[in-house]
This record gives sequence, C-alpha cells and structure tokens, in this order.
Amino acid sequence: MKIFNPASFAKFFPFYEESASSNRPVYFDNAATTQKHKHVIEVTSNFYQAENANVHRAAHKLSAEATVKFEQARETARKFVNAKSTKEIIWTKGTTEGINLIAQCFAQTTLAKGDEIVLSYAEHHANIVPWQQVTQATGAIIKVLPLDNEGRIDKSAISGVFSENTKLVSLVMISNVVGKLNPIEDIVKAARAVGATVVVDAAQAVAHQSIDVQAIDCDFLVFSAHKMFGPTGIGLVYGKEALLDAMPPYQFGGEMIRKVSFSGTSFGELPFKFEAGTPNIVGVIGFAEAMKFVSSLDLRAVADYEESIISYTHKKLSDIPGLTFLFKGKPDVPLFSFNLTDHAKDVASFLDAHNFAVRAGHHCAMPLFEYLEQGGCVRASLAPYNTQTEVDSFIALLHQFVKSGIEAEGEVEASDVSVTTAPSLTPDEASIDDTTVDDATIEVIERFDKAKGWDGKHREIMLLSKLLERMSKTERNESSLVKGCESDVWLKAHLDDDKHWHFSADSDAKVIRGLLVIVLAAYQNKSCEHIQAFDIETYFERLGLLQHLSPSRGNGVRAIVENIRKVSR
Ligand code: PMP
Repeated sequence: MKIFNPASFAKFFPFYEESASSNRPVYFDNAATTQKHKHVIEVTSNFYQAENANVHRAAHKLSAEATVKFEQARETARKFVNAKSTKEIIWTKGTTEGINLIAQCFAQTTLAKGDEIVLSYAEHHANIVPWQQVTQATGAIIKVLPLDNEGRIDKSAISGVFSENTKLVSLVMISNVVGKLNPIEDIVKAARAVGATVVVDAAQAVAHQSIDVQAIDCDFLVFSAHKMFGPTGIGLVYGKEALLDAMPPYQFGGEMIRKVSFSGTSFGELPFKFEAGTPNIVGVIGFAEAMKFVSSLDLRAVADYEESIISYTHKKLSDIPGLTFLFKGKPDVPLFSFNLTDHAKDVASFLDAHNFAVRAGHHCAMPLFEYLEQGGCVRASLAPYNTQTEVDSFIALLHQFVKSGIEAEGEVEASDVSVTTAPSLTPDEASIDDTTVDDATIEVIERFDKAKGWDGKHREIMLLSKLLERMSKTERNESSLVKGCESDVWLKAHLDDDKHWHFSADSDAKVIRGLLVIVLAAYQNKSCEHIQAFDIETYFERLGLLQHLSPSRGNGVRAIVENIRKVSR
C-alpha cells in the first residue's frame, strides 16, 4: 500500500496551484462543498468549447457523441454505487432534489393517514422538510430517532420507534454536523422486518466511503457531485428498478415522454421518465469524472491519512481552553463541530479575518440544535488535500482567539467605557460629529476607521460590540426580530418628545453587535428627515466596512438599515 501524500493529492486541484496561492484561504469548509478536480474542470470546459450539443434528440454527429458521453456517465454512476442497471440511476440537481423526487413520486403516492415516516434528529433540512410536506398531503406522521451520546443514531431506540405502521425510513449515513457513521445496516434490517422502504442520504458519506447500494440493501440512495470534487447543480437518485417503475414521473415536458397528443400522452421508460427537459449535460459529464477520480483512489490509504488527521486535530482541539465538542468521541470523518467561548459566528468571522474558511451556525440542521439545546456551532471540515501544517495554524489561531478575547475584556474595562448607553455618533455627511457622541465611542470608531486590513478592522468591531447595551430577553422577541439577517438581530425604536428617534438593538453574535454600534451611530437621536436623507453607503464606504463583509452579512447590515428607515418613516 502506498503512503498517502496530501501534497500529491492537492496537485489534482487547480485551487492548490502555486499561481493561485497568494490570497487562497485555508479551506476547511469541505462539507459545504469540496474544491473541484482538474479533470472535472477540463471536461466541462472542453465540452462547452468543442463538443456542445443537446442529448437524445438531434440527428447529427455532435449530438450523438454528446448522448454517448451522457449515457456513459450513467454507466459510470451505476458502477460507482453498484446498482444493477442504469435504469436505476436518475440525474437530479443534487441531494435535495433527489429527496424531493422520492417524497413526491413515491411517498406522496403510496402513504396514507396514520402511516409513519422515521427520520433522526441528525437530519439535514433536505431530509426533513420534503417529508413534512408528505405528511401534510397524506396524513402520515413523522417519528424521530434519538442519538446516542456520541451523536450516532441510537440503535437501542430502533425497536421502540419502528412498528408495523413504519412505512418509510429516511436517514443520513454521515451527518454534516456530527461526522459519524450511522448504523445503517442495523437500521435497514429493522426496516425490512417491518416492511418499510429505506432512503439513505449519502451526501456527506460519498467523499469518504465507497457506496454499494446492493450491500446496503436500501431502496433509494441520494447524493450530490459537489461534495466529492465534482460540479455543483448535479446529483443522483439511485432507486430499485421495480419501485421507480411503479412511480409516476416527477416533472412533465420534453424528454420524459413516449408520445404526446391532445388525445392522450404516454410517458417514457426508466430512467428518462424522471428527467424532463434538457438535462445538466456538462454537470453529468463532470460528475462522471469526479466518480472516476474517487474510484481510482486507494481508499485504504486515504482512510489511514484521514484517521491520522482526525486523531491529531481532535487532540489539539481538545487542548484549547473553553472549547467544547458537540458530541463525545472522535468523528469518523475529518469534520469537527465545536463551540468556543464566543458565538460560533464570531469564531468564524475571526478565522475569516485570518483567511481560514470554516462554517458557523445551524448548518441546515436546526432540529439537531433544538434537540441539543444549543444555538449552533463552528464546523471545520477537512478533505485529503488539507495538511497537518494547516491544522497547526488553525489551532494556533483558535488559541489566539481565546487569548484575544481575554485581553479585549481587559482593554475595554481599562478604557472605562460606559456600556449602559447606546452610542449616538452622528456621522454627518459621513464624518464623525463629536458633539453628540460619548468620547469612548468616537475613539473606537475613529480607531476602526484607521485600522489597517480586515484583521485590524475585525478586532475593532469586536471591541465596539462591548459598547452596545444588551436588550432584555423579553425584548428579544418575534416582533423585534429583523428579517433578512443570517444571525438573530433584534431592533426596537422609540420616538421622543422632540421627534427624535432612539434605537436599541441586539444580536446573538458579537461581530453583529459591533456592526450594530456602527450602524446605530449614524441614526441615534435623529429626526425622521435626517434618517431618510442620510447616505449610509458613503458612510460605510468611508469606514471601509462593507467590502470586507460576506455578501450575506452585508445584506444583513443593509436589512438592519432598511428596518431603521422603515420604522422611522
Ligand atoms: N444532506 C446532507 C447530509 C448534506 O450535508 C447536504 C448538504 N449540506 C444535503 C443533504 C443537501 O445537499 P445539496 O445542497 O447538495 O442538495
């Protein structure tokens, strides 16, 4: 067996080319999407440049060749999952569309009132919401399997949840938050014993495990190309032929028909009856390339490497003061979900300021966080191109984050800032008017203004956050919640006798509280006319603020501004 070398692996990825290195972040967000293999990029761009034609229709060579490639890709997929026939492979936009297809075409047409669908607390929204729609349409109900203290689906709970009413079981193989392999074989056995149909969400598993649908003995299995080095917008449903054959089509139109007439239309055969319209041809061809790449890997060597990086990272993370993992025990894939002293979004934005890409929040698994009674977490998800050196820098940064938090506490206390009054800075024509603002706020905003680079500005935002008076728990309610922010933000407004507006605001994330100080400074204690006339974009531009924020965070800041302008109209 060859020793796995992450640097050689990285050579397959243009993202890791030397020429692209200057601003390249350390990419630890592979559970969201992986980087793309060079062959995937080559075959897709080559198809558009030299081979472009539609499939399954025109009577010319180019189209015939495109059709051959497209159908060869289906054979590659059949082999990849070990399906019996290419009729069992349906192209979709991805995992989400795959589950929707099964929910609408299978569950909605076969389930009835009182039938039970079994999910687990670790499911992605994509494996919850489509089933909730089925329950509304059919009167079926959802039952939820609990997790054990390591975060895997609790085997011991299966017998208490499954019954003769269980008609469908849809479970994640490896959760995108837990990172542990679920006992799918036991679950399939239990489902078979009660005659239930089994759907497996392999979205996260597919980059780490070889998939054999016959060995798993599931009825359906879904995954997306983009989490296994392939293109976005393409995935597949594997379904047992007899089940797919009995199901009605998903969408209707071209490609999926045999004959169309105003006197009656008949549908095509498998797999085409589920693929209405021009498909994602380049996506399919790129997907096949990604499957070929994953199949060519020495999976034992990759697994050994992943195991070593998992143990190393898990140990190093465990040593960080204040760090808590979501679950006990090492993950089975290099995916680490944890919380640190501050809000997860604050940790992620600190890391982003230091050019590390991780994800923070609920990771499209809100019911899991409700179950754990937690607000979210930071998730660092690694792929085989990530190295121990990157992990070392990551760990060093997290130590720095903890330390800087402690130091910042001291700094703010030392400057004796009054944190009980919301700042009322008036940046008249985007400048700072020091007649209406407390000195401490002016000082910090001026420092923010002067801070160099996102690193410096980020630090100042964190200091500013301490100036915001927190709202009480009862004030932070549905009616004060600002829509359109990725974090929870609450805003309340009040008009005084001089017809000046006063705002209080709050957020669960420190970084947002810092941004709120900057936003509120522009509007506090101002008349309606002033608020409507104020040029906030110039103000932000002058502070060098928005260019550093992600589009979603920038939109969140604008949503707050919109709310302020709306209430004060
Ligand atoms: N299930 C799991 C476990 C996932 O991780 C994801 C993607 N985060 C999905 C489903 C949805 O996949 P997609 O967005 O590609 O449809």
